Amino acid sequence: MGSGIKPAGYVVSSTAEYVPAGVELVQERVAEFDPEGKKVVTESGKAHAYDFLVVATGMRLEYGLIEGMSEDLIGRDGIGSIYHSPAKAEATWQAMSAFADKGGRGVFLRPNTEMKCAGAPLKYTFITDDYLSRRGRRSKAEVVYNSNNKVLFSVPIVSEKVRMLFQERGIQVNYERVLKAIDPGKRIATFSTPAGTEEQGYDFIHVIPPMRAPEPIRNSPLPWQSGPWAAEGWMEVDKGTLRHVRYRNVFGVGDIAGVPKGKTAASVKWQVPVAVDHIVAEIAGKTSDALYTGYTSCPLITRLGRAMLVEFDYQNNLVPSFPGVIAPLEELWVSWVMKTMALKPTYISMLRGRA
Ligand SMILES: Cc1cc2nc3c(=O)[nH]c(=O)nc-3n(C[C@H](O)[C@H](O)[C@H](O)COP(=O)(O)OP(=O)(O)OC[C@H]3O[C@@H](n4cnc5c(N)ncnc54)[C@H](O)[C@@H]3O)c2cc1C
Repeated sequence: MGSGIKPAGYVVSSTAEYVPAGVELVQERVAEFDPEGKKVVTESGKAHAYDFLVVATGMRLEYGLIEGMSEDLIGRDGIGSIYHSPAKAEATWQAMSAFADKGGRGVFLRPNTEMKCAGAPLKYTFITDDYLSRRGRRSKAEVVYNSNNKVLFSVPIVSEKVRMLFQERGIQVNYERVLKAIDPGKRIATFSTPAGTEEQGYDFIHVIPPMRAPEPIRNSPLPWQSGPWAAEGWMEVDKGTLRHVRYRNVFGVGDIAGVPKGKTAASVKWQVPVAVDHIVAEIAGKTSDALYTGYTSCPLITRLGRAMLVEFDYQNNLVPSFPGVIAPLEELWVSWVMKTMALKPTYISMLRGRA
């Protein structure tokens, strides 16, 4: 949607459609997690006791942690952000398309926190670059990508491949730049750098905000108490079993899990069966040896009609699902078809427990 490829509504459906018969759906947020008392309390104040708890709250986008930025600005004054919602992805597409018609300076970035789909900031840079070329405006444009650290992707071989592609396409790269403030009136973004702050003017900017655990999780005893995932509130689970380290009847799956990789929907596909296997085994008085190895997948679009299907694990090994058919580091039409046509039906089958 953010690239004008899919219509509004393509990504929208309701949770109720996927809840199997015999499962009660409580349409209220959890306001309080009480793992000592083995209960959660929903916003209306109702307590729900449990024997086992599987937490899958995802994460919160924190636009407010960037000075001058707010969700309302998305789609205005050259500001885009595909992360927020379908409506804002559509608004971002309008802003990006207007930029691609005129040219100017396009600024891209990623946050200095854990994030879902770490390939998305790169994809959006590639796609914008491609639109500029297709509309004959590439020579009138500067495309600048700001990485929060010293690499472009956490898997070294992928990072190097992206670096080479960016170089080929004339996309400038700045390392160790973290967006701190934005002035929409003047169209200036302020980044922190190891040497102080740096201002970058823009005609179009793609803002990806810092991300952290939702407040009820951060206010509970469930997050890591120390280490790299404590400050952002990710759940303290074992990276192999997804079982909470201190509360053995609690599991954390999906984006909320405090594990080294795995913040993609494709990871959920491999995480959930592991957690389920441990719960079922325990109910049956057995043990399970099911382990999640960190499978993470990122169909990295490099231009319209081409993508690299990047799949990896905790060890940064590439773990292709179709070895010999889909090469992970090649820009292929077949990976594009998979991403744009096959993924939605696959994810929906997954939600129904069929894939
Ligand atoms: C732009 C973009 C591109 C992406 N591309 C890909 C991709 O190509 N491939 C891929 O595999 N993944 C991709 N992802 C990542 C993928 O969407 C997430 O990793 C995935 O949705 C995580 O699933 P989840 O169930 O953990 O969290 P979510 O899908 O965020 O679901 C969490 C749910 O919990 C609910 N919730 C939150 N707090 C509470 C509470 N207190 N009480 C009750 N409910 C609560 C939320 O409302 C939400 O419904 C992309 C994400 C973005 C934004």
